[in-house]
This record gives sequence, structure tokens and C-alpha cells, in this order.
Amino acid sequence: MQPRDLSDHVAYEAGRGIEEVARELGRDPSEFVKLASNENPHGPSPAATVALREAASSVSSYPKAAHADLSAAVAERWDVSADQIWLANGGDGAIDYLSRATLEPDDTVLVPSPGFAYYGMSARFHHGDVREYDLEREDDFEQSADAVLSAYDGDRLVYLTSPHNPTGTTIPLAEIETIAAETDDDTLVVVDEAYGEFADRDSAVALLEGRDGFDARDDVAVLRTFSKAYGLAGLRLGYAVVPDEWAEAYARVNTPFAASELACRAGLAALEDDEHVARTVETTEDARAYMREHIDAHVWESEGNFVLVDVGEASAVAQAMQESGVIVRDCSSFGLPECIRITCGTEEETERAVDTLNDVLESAGTGSEVSET
Ligand SMILES: *Cc1c(COP(=O)(O)O)cnc(C)c1O
Repeated sequence: MQPRDLSDHVAYEAGRGIEEVARELGRDPSEFVKLASNENPHGPSPAATVALREAASSVSSYPKAAHADLSAAVAERWDVSADQIWLANGGDGAIDYLSRATLEPDDTVLVPSPGFAYYGMSARFHHGDVREYDLEREDDFEQSADAVLSAYDGDRLVYLTSPHNPTGTTIPLAEIETIAAETDDDTLVVVDEAYGEFADRDSAVALLEGRDGFDARDDVAVLRTFSKAYGLAGLRLGYAVVPDEWAEAYARVNTPFAASELACRAGLAALEDDEHVARTVETTEDARAYMREHIDAHVWESEGNFVLVDVGEASAVAQAMQESGVIVRDCSSFGLPECIRITCGTEEETERAVDTLNDVLESAGTGSEVSET
């Protein structure tokens, strides 16, 4: 007996972890810094850590009240109703709920290339097919309604990532509105704002609620996560904000108790800790500017908590940096074999990453390819 035909499915390639790399190289984990998975260099909010300890003794109960409390708090944050918040096991879990709520067999989803692998994975799990629109390197991966609409062909879901992983670009709300307006009535535009806190931009929640001069729409949903700015990647907590018209579908598609007691309690505490998020965003802005100024290679402008760097040969450079103790993301699996992505670390981590990268580039003799940004 075999699983169904999974030959179209590909495994998710996560950034490599310190333990894993240290073990492989036979070295001590303390020698490494990991800037490969866009995690928060300040760790979780201290308030969330306290909440986790306090909630530990309650995990014998199903998380009913905690789930309701967190939905209400997140809804208040966005000024929407609680049933418009689809809590999930990470932003990835929210992507699955949107797939479940929309896809019939052979429906297609339109995703960016390069882009986040899980959009396509989730579609395939739900018997959908994947189509791509290209973000062009010559245009610095600029996102526009034209780029999306010229590839669009009646797809059921259209994914936009703003800020975009791994390039760091964003798409203006007016362009998103154009995409939503020009696509069919039953196409849902999903705006993935996993890195929204790091960008000086308004959320696309304005489009579904009809704020800031936009008309309210029932064909845009927004994804957010606690994994990045809130520093809770290990807990797996994220959500979709959906139009009022979609609210009722959640009860029909969600896993019973979509987020754990610990995740909900920590999420509630983290949501209140504005100071931790503000500090994280400030560190990120400093690190982005530092990397753009000091890396001896082309660094694209980014609105996320990472930068994309053209290093020529990503796998060799990432490997060499790793041997010097700095783990970064080789973007070959994103279809960018010449690029690495470096997460914004603390000041010290970021400086170490830059020094290490510049040394690697110099000894590889590619330092002369320096292009000004
Ligand atoms: C990190 C990330 C997510 C969500 O990650 P979770 O840890 O599942 O919340 C979603 N989209 C993009 C583009 C990401 O980089």
C-alpha cells in the first residue's frame, strides 16, 4: 500500500538550524549565529515567556477560552469582528484554511516566482494546481498589478506577499485593489503580510474593511503571523483576517482548537507588548541600513527583516559563511541560485555576518564585482 501520487509535491526547505549545522561540522553550537529563518534576534516578548510558564499547568484542558480571548484581542487590534479572525497553527496553517475554504479539485492558485513555497504546497495538498507570475530581477523584483494580471487566468486564489520573501519588495494597496477589481468575482486575493510590522505601509485590511478611501471588498484576505516580529516562531501561531462574508466558513474548515492553549496565551501577552515589537522593528531598520551600506555586493532594498544579496554563487558562499559560523539562507530553492538572504540580527550578529560575507567574497575573488546600490 502506498500514499497517493505525491510526485508533484516537494518538501519544504527550511533555513538550517544551529544544532543541525554544529553537529554536522562537529563543532560547538555556541560558535554559530543563525540568520537564515527570519526569526526575531531578541527572542520572544518577555511577557509571552511569563504567560507560557503560567499557562503550562492548564494544558490538560482544550483551549476554548484562550482561543476566544485571542480572537477578540486580535479583532480589536484590527477593528474587525472576532469571527473575521481565523486563528491557525502558524501563518502556514491559515494558508491551509484558505485552501480548504476555496479550492475544488483542479482549481488553480497563482503564486509569485520567486516566492514562498508553502502557497503551492498547500494548494497541492488540496488537489489544486499551481501557476506562477514572475517578479523580474531586471525590475528589482517590483510587484505590480500588471505583473500579476498578465499571468492571471481565472485562478481561484492569487497570492501577493508584501513585504515579499525573499526579495523584500512591497505592493501598494492601490495595485492590490486593481488586482482584486480586475480578477473574477470568485478569485480571492490573499495578501501575505507575514513581515507587515517591518514595513512602513498600511495593511491591506483597509481594502476588506473599506477604509482610507477604498471601497469595502469581499475578495481580499490578509495573512499575519506571530512568528516574525513577535518572536514566537516555535509556538506556531498565525491568522487570516477575512471579509465579513467569509466569517462563517471558519467553523466549517478549521481543525478543532486550531491554536494551542500555550500559543493563545503567549500570543495574547505578546500582542500587548508594543515595546518588544517596537524594539524589534528598530533593530531591523538599523540592520537593513547597515547591510546595504557595508556589504561588498549588491543588496536589494528591503522592507522585511532580511535582505537579499547577489553573491554570484549562493551555495558556495552560504557554505563558506557557515564554516565561519554564520548561517544564512541560500536562495537556490527560491529559484535564485546567485542570491543569499540574510536575516537582520542584533547589532553584533549583523556586523559579524557582514564581516564574514565580505571576507568570503574577497577570498573568492568576487569582491571586484561590487555594485553600488
Ligand atoms: C514566515 C512566513 C509565513 C508564515 O510563517 P509561520 O511561521 O507559519 O507563521 C508566511 N508567509 C511568508 C512569506 C513567510 O515568510
